[in-house]
Amino acid sequence: MKKILVAGAGGFIGGHLVKELIKKGHAVRAIDIKPLNEWYQVSEDADNYVLDLRLRENCHKAVNGCNEVFNFAADMGGMGFIENNKAACMITVLINTHLLIAARECGIDRYFYASSACVYNGDKQTDPDNPGLKESDAYPAMAEDGYGWEKLFSERMCRHFSEDFGLTTRVARFHNVYGPFGTFDGGREKAPAAICRKVIEAGITGKKDIVIWGDGLQTRSFMYIDDCIKGIQDIMYSNIKVPINLGSTEMVSINELVDIVEDIAGLKLQRKYDLDAPKGVRGRNSDNTLIRKYLNWEPSIPLRDGMKKTYDWIKEQIISEKDKKKIERFNK
Ligand code: NAD
Repeated sequence: MKKILVAGAGGFIGGHLVKELIKKGHAVRAIDIKPLNEWYQVSEDADNYVLDLRLRENCHKAVNGCNEVFNFAADMGGMGFIENNKAACMITVLINTHLLIAARECGIDRYFYASSACVYNGDKQTDPDNPGLKESDAYPAMAEDGYGWEKLFSERMCRHFSEDFGLTTRVARFHNVYGPFGTFDGGREKAPAAICRKVIEAGITGKKDIVIWGDGLQTRSFMYIDDCIKGIQDIMYSNIKVPINLGSTEMVSINELVDIVEDIAGLKLQRKYDLDAPKGVRGRNSDNTLIRKYLNWEPSIPLRDGMKKTYDWIKEQIISEKDKKKIERFNK
């Protein structure tokens, strides 16, 4: 049994990993800046703390006494958030910097950093028919402004802490992760959750149309959370010393993603395209040559299956929220 710190444990991916590590019998210290009642999942068997990990002294407190660190803490969201909050995204650099310093001071055995496909050079993502981004496509560097540059810088800091101080670091570049217990409204949600929410709301209200950001022809691949959680652990305990893609290769256009959700909902909506909305790069897919070579595995949960589970969970949340409001009105 190990003592493991999960930073950003109140968020989507961190919350799922805490559950998995507890299930495996580890002692988990779970930390997030959000108040506990806002965490997506709270595992009672973990030591849960609310701390701002931008501060060096808090990182020391968080890391001290642990054997390993998984860092998911970031001020982030979907395109709507990262295009309009570049400074906030870049300030996240303080979290990884101070966690790495603390990891070195406290003699941590292994350190995992959650990077992103947003590190890739924008010039290699202009074609919707993207053949898949290879790890080397991050250079020459022209990452997503703000968020992507912070990720690229933090990746390199992990590399130099390994080279100069002997800290064992592992870095995965996630390509769009989706699933239950994540953000689906409020401005930080990503396309899969946002589309589920819009279709569910149309079903409830009888609205006949749906607004899509961009022209719907932009492409992405989406990885279901269970694949992500397996990949994170396999990469953490592997010998992979370079940043590596962790993503699905099932690339679809946003229109195709809407088709899937409509099919799950049994609805057909009129599409309205908002061409001025944030839309990100034109085409993005993961090249999985390296992960297949190292792990003899790659994410493979079909998009339709993962979207069904995500859709059902979001629907449950929206309906229970509506019921709560009805009860509140009734009690007034
Ligand atoms: P999330 O927003 O659900 O979780 C991040 C958590 O970090 C949040 O709960 C937030 O409150 C916490 N946090 C922010 N600032 C903090 C601070 N100062 N101190 C402590 N906690 C703080 O995001 P997620 O989807 O779970 O993503 C986890 C990680 O994976 C992030 O680093 C993200 O950049 C990366 N990533 C995610 C995706 C994806 O599709 N979800 C894709 C690429 C990379």
